Amino acid sequence: MPLFLPCAVDHSPGALSVSRETYATLGPSMNTSDLSPQGAALLLQGGEVLGLDLSPYLTQFGKLQTALLAGQKRMNLTALTSERDIIIKHFLDSLTCARSGYLQTTGRVFDLGTGAGFPSLPLAIVYPLHVVAADATRKKVEHVAWAAEQVGLNNVTTLVGRAEALGRSEVYREQYQRVVTRAVAALPVLAELALPLLEVGGLLIAQKGPISAEELQAGGSAAAAVGGELLITERFELPILGDPRSLVVLRKVRPTPAKYPRREGIPNKEPLFWRYPDQ
Ligand code: SAH
Repeated sequence: MPLFLPCAVDHSPGALSVSRETYATLGPSMNTSDLSPQGAALLLQGGEVLGLDLSPYLTQFGKLQTALLAGQKRMNLTALTSERDIIIKHFLDSLTCARSGYLQTTGRVFDLGTGAGFPSLPLAIVYPLHVVAADATRKKVEHVAWAAEQVGLNNVTTLVGRAEALGRSEVYREQYQRVVTRAVAALPVLAELALPLLEVGGLLIAQKGPISAEELQAGGSAAAAVGGELLITERFELPILGDPRSLVVLRKVRPTPAKYPRREGIPNKEPLFWRYPDQ
């Protein structure tokens, strides 16, 4: 198989591209892979709950599942390996971030802390978005680029970098209308990491499990410090399983002060207005 860069890779300063050499070590392209009939039914059923007809995308989700499982063999990418868990807790859960209507389903969205590609890759399958999938861990980003290629997506750009550095780089600071995060950090930390990347008027859509009133309040205070405000919190249940989830939307209302984000590691170590409950 010819080896080529798996998808659009960001070559801007500060962005480290996925090298051909590393991609080559990931192995040849996979053949078409399908969801099982039960898996396909589950995905369609969950999609219906979300108001989405996922039938045009079954093949792509099948390929994404195969890529995820292949990635899991190479590195510890995800704790979820059963088809049922992958479909509900990765694919459907990722798509819930569009349920608020705040995402916009066209334009560019920055997925901060994408890990194995969530929510980026399911969003890129279903919507005509351009997704920038960013993570501090190079190996994960390389997997996401490779998985996007396997699925046949041309609307995914990958980026290796820490949010603290990206948010201070003029290439990325105040450039995006939407940032999404799933399971990355406490809300006050997310505010400091994500709001610098947003244009004034842009939104952070944070996907979380249950969220406490204290975390929300601290998130609102942290948002205010970095130029934002808490817009809405939506609590809902994950389709099929019923697990509690929240979407928290922060809006950027003025430019972020130059001192934010603080240097690498500090936002998480000393969150604004917040202490982790076990500290
Ligand atoms: N969003 C994915 C991964 C969640 S795990 C999912 O829901 O499955 C959190 C991810 O955020 C990890 O991959 C970690 O490398 C990344 N991350 C944490 N802090 C970061 C930072 N400051 N900058 C960039 N990525 C970060």
